[in-house]
This record gives sequence, C-alpha cells and structure tokens, in this order.
Amino acid sequence: MATHQRDYAFLESTVSICPHCLRRLDGKIIRRKNAIYVTRVCPEHGLQEGIMEENADYWQKRMLYTKPGTAVATQTERSKGCPFDCGLCPEHEQHTCIGLIEVTQACNLRCPVCYAAAGFGEPLPLETIKKMLAFYQESEDGQAEILQISGGEPTTHPDIIAIIEACREAKIPYVMLNTNGIRVAESEDFVKKLAQFHGGFEIYLQFDGFDESTYSHLRGRSMLDTKLKAIANLTKYNIPITLVATVERGINDKELGKMVEFALKQPLVRGINFQPVAFFGRLNGVDTSNRITLTGILDGIEKQTNGMLKVSDFIPLPCDVDRVAVTYLYRENEQFVPLMRQIDVKNYLPAIRNTFKFNPEEFVKDLAKSATGPADEKCCDYLGIMKQFKRMIPASYFLKSETEKHEYISANTFRVSVTSFVDAYNFDMKSMKKECVHIITPELKKMPFSSYNMIHRPNVAHTPAVPTA
Ligand code: SF4
Ligand code: SF4
Repeated sequence: MATHQRDYAFLESTVSICPHCLRRLDGKIIRRKNAIYVTRVCPEHGLQEGIMEENADYWQKRMLYTKPGTAVATQTERSKGCPFDCGLCPEHEQHTCIGLIEVTQACNLRCPVCYAAAGFGEPLPLETIKKMLAFYQESEDGQAEILQISGGEPTTHPDIIAIIEACREAKIPYVMLNTNGIRVAESEDFVKKLAQFHGGFEIYLQFDGFDESTYSHLRGRSMLDTKLKAIANLTKYNIPITLVATVERGINDKELGKMVEFALKQPLVRGINFQPVAFFGRLNGVDTSNRITLTGILDGIEKQTNGMLKVSDFIPLPCDVDRVAVTYLYRENEQFVPLMRQIDVKNYLPAIRNTFKFNPEEFVKDLAKSATGPADEKCCDYLGIMKQFKRMIPASYFLKSETEKHEYISANTFRVSVTSFVDAYNFDMKSMKKECVHIITPELKKMPFSSYNMIHRPNVAHTPAVPTA
C-alpha cells in the first residue's frame, strides 16, 4: 500500500458505540480542519463517524477548565460497561448538578424533536414523587441543589402545585418547572398559583424563536403567540423565566442572536439556554450529517450578536466541560457586559463549585477558603479577583437580606448557556461519564440524561443490542 497523508490528526482514544446496534467499540477522536469527530468501526455496520464539535480550538482548550468531579452514592454495580450500567454506577465521575423528575409522560404537544417521545401516560402518583425527592436528597448527602420538574408536560399533572410544594418540603433549594408554556399562556389562574413559590423557583420555558415555520417543524404546530402570552403572564406575576431553545441547523440557527437580544429585554427572563437537537426519542434514526453542535451554536451567537457576545466570553462549565458552555452577563449602566471579559475564570477554578448555580456570596466565601487552603488548591490571585469582583458586585450587596440579595442577583445578572447531549452518533464515553444532569427514576436510580434517552428509557424505539465487550 502506498503511503499517503491522512486528512485528519488523531487526538485521543475513547470507547464509543455503534449507532445502529449499540455495540461498544474502540473509538478515536480526530480533528479534521476545525472540527472534531468520533470514529469507530463496527464489525456489522462498518465505519461510523460522527461530528462532535465544529470549533476544534474551543474543544481542545476546554480541559483547562476541568475540575475533579464530586463523588456521590451509587445505585448499581459495574457489570456490562458504560453506558449499560446506569446508574449511577461506581464508574460515573460526577454528582448530580441538576436532578430531573418526569412527573408524567402525557403531553399536550407531539413535538417531532421530543427526546422523551412523550404524548400519553399516567401521571406519577404524588407519593412516588415524594419518595423520589427524598432519594435525590439522600443520594446527594442532603445537599441536592437543583431539581427540574419535567415530563411529558408537567403542567398537565393534576397535582402539579402539590409537587412543587413537595420539592419545598424536601428542601430542594432551586426548582425549575419545565414547560412548553401552553397552560401558562392559557390560564392566568394557574400562573397566580405558581406565583406563591417566590424565590428559588423559576419557569424553564421552551422557546425556539420567532418564525412560525420553526414551531411547525420542531413542535408540530404554530406556537409563537402562546410563547409570548406565557412570558407576559409570568412577567405580570413576577415569576422568573429561563428560555430554552432547541436548535436545529437550517431551521432556527439563524435566530440565535435575535433570541438573546429578545431575552435580555424581558424583565423577568434571567437566562437563555440553547440545546442542539439530540438524536434520540422521536429523532432517533434521522439523518445526523447536518447536525449543529455546542460550538456551532457559540459561533452563531458571536456572528449574530455583532460582538456583544463572543465565543471567548463563554467558558466550559468546570463540572462538565464537554457538554455545557456558559457566560454570565452583569448589568452595568443599563447595559449587560460579559463577566468573563473581566475575570480569567480558569485562574480561580478551586473556588468554583461543581454546580450550575452562580451565587456571588458563595463564590467569594470559597475564594477566601481557597486562598488559605492547601498550596495546590490555592487561587493564584485572590486579591486580584476580589478587586475585580467588588467592582461588579457593590459592597452594599453583602449587607442586604437574603431575599434582597436574591433579587439583586436575579435582576442584575443574565446567563447565556449552551447544553449539548451525548447520543449514539457522537458517543464518547469520557464525556458520558462526566454528565451531571441526571434523571431520577421511580425505581430510585439516577440515570445520566443522555444514556437514559439513548438506551434506558422504557419507551424508546432503540432497543439495545446485548452489549459485547
Ligand atoms: S453513564 Fe455513568 S452511570 Fe451510566 S454506565 Fe456510564 S459511568 Fe455508569
Ligand atoms: S418536547 Fe416537551 S412539549 Fe414537546 S412532546 Fe416532548 S414533552 Fe411535550
């Protein structure tokens, strides 16, 4: 065989799976031009190559931000190998930053992109949900941080208000209600009831853009009026909102900048999260060759916000550098300015917890702790960051009551994040093991969101092949 130059650079070995039969396979991570791919060869289905990221420079630098994971209780044993042992099994490398309980599989939409393939199903009994909440707390040593109430469409659950109350009783500090917004838009009475959960509660509202053709494609019907009405109702009752957009190339990737600008103008919208479509649930088996990735979305945000937000303003979230990129903006003279332009976050990793939550007070306390901690954990420039930080957070903040502090942070900071998921097409086991969004199941297990949707969800079309080593 004549020698020839490969068209890629080999970066790492990994374990992947075949997207057709889910066999575990040795894989390679390669860089071709400015993109990252995972490749593997299935004895039955041949060479499989899936794009992982479109901005290789960002991906290769992400490890500068990684931190040791937090170990927590596990529920299963090592047996067939990742991702078949969920979970959590002892091989999992991160605790639960966000726990998610699907309170019903029923839904008033049939979105073609639904990862849960939701539509029909009985609501989970409240007593079962209470047991799941207790399990979540116990598994995190009483320190559970964030819970998303999800589905299906959770607002169709007849006990939805009692479920949020149960989260309070279980002492979950931050509760997010994931919703498509239909009930919130249609029933002001319902929104009034939600308003009682002031503080530590927000609505995670599906919002995919402004073009009705986007909604027809992603959600199966027009929805823009519903979304705008939902935002108006929530604003009227002072309920904080995070917008969450599913992004598909060629459908709504041209509206990223417009969505950020719209979100910044809404007084109760505290953040926006973009999620590239993942190929499981109803999208399993659909052509993935044109998929958009986390870094493709970052590039799009930079191009479409005219320099207001740049890729360099985002950092990989230290608890899961592969799958979450985030930036915080703070209000300065009625403008929002990216925090990461003021602080080189990777110099302060010891002071950043494995969490999605941003709490300046905890950050400052942790900085102080790490400034006096063991040498290898010390922040390199504690005084430097304090100076920068105090310029942004006025000293008067620290004199406020807990409620005032919460309100100050809510009103003066804004979060833009991108969260991507692992599916059978871009599967990289290293990344899978670090995932920190976990579904709490009625059987009292914690399943990483991606592996659950890929192979463990009871109603998925993809039936796992018997894994072979
Ligand atoms: S995804 Fe995590 S919990 Fe599941 S098998 Fe892999 S290491 Fe274990
Ligand atoms: S994506 Fe959400 S709103 Fe759409 S069908 Fe699935 S659960 Fe329902």
